[in-house]
Amino acid sequence: MSGKLVIGNWKMNTRGDGARELAAALLADSATNREGVGIAAPAVYLSDLARQLAGGRLALAAQDVSRFAADGAYTGETSASMLADVGCRYTLVGHSERRQYFGEDNAALLAKMRNAAAAGVTPVLCVGETLAEREAGRHLAVIADQLAILTEIAGDGYVIAYEPVWAIGTGKVATLEQIAEIHAFIKNWCLQNTDGSDKIRVLYGGSVKAENAEAILATKNVDGALVGGASLDADSFRVICQAAGNMI
Ligand code: PEP
Repeated sequence: MSGKLVIGNWKMNTRGDGARELAAALLADSATNREGVGIAAPAVYLSDLARQLAGGRLALAAQDVSRFAADGAYTGETSASMLADVGCRYTLVGHSERRQYFGEDNAALLAKMRNAAAAGVTPVLCVGETLAEREAGRHLAVIADQLAILTEIAGDGYVIAYEPVWAIGTGKVATLEQIAEIHAFIKNWCLQNTDGSDKIRVLYGGSVKAENAEAILATKNVDGALVGGASLDADSFRVICQAAGNMI
């Protein structure tokens, strides 16, 4: 495993000019324009950004991928081979916002994981519990259930992101103890249930910011970060990526 991976999730934000400006700032900085850093931009801007990032080292990522593999009558969908075609190296799969607003379930997510991997786009499977599930003491069972699709996938060509739903966009960060506990649980689960052994990277996501990135990234079994809000600000994202880069 080589270094920590940091991916910025822009979600449904930016317009063309803003996306280009943000990408230009990241390209101009060696802390962000390097292997191990990626940006998950809105689908409509991916091609444009791919042209802008060409020659740089910053990776392009999508926020979602279709569960349908072949071209066809799937209005509104973006296939894995389209993502590969425009140069995406990663795609998020099963972000909690997609699970919540679009009802994505394990069957759809397994298809998405398979399609992405088959097209050469590394899927980043997002898992995490809601506050109610944590308070009911069900968080480990919920996460294990979300991870279960990995038993259907051969090899280790994917990344996992642990994102407690209650910490996403709320400013509430899981404690370092909570992060360490869940990351150890996920790594152990992978060791026991997949053939990916210890090569599978597990990122943390949930209100990662310039101020807390170093401590989170230094936590045992944290192989990087998935960053939402703070990735829309080049300075904040740079500080997070710099903290990750210092730990290579
Ligand atoms: C995310 O969107 O994956 C995320 C972690 O968001 P935020 O950093 O804003 O909590």
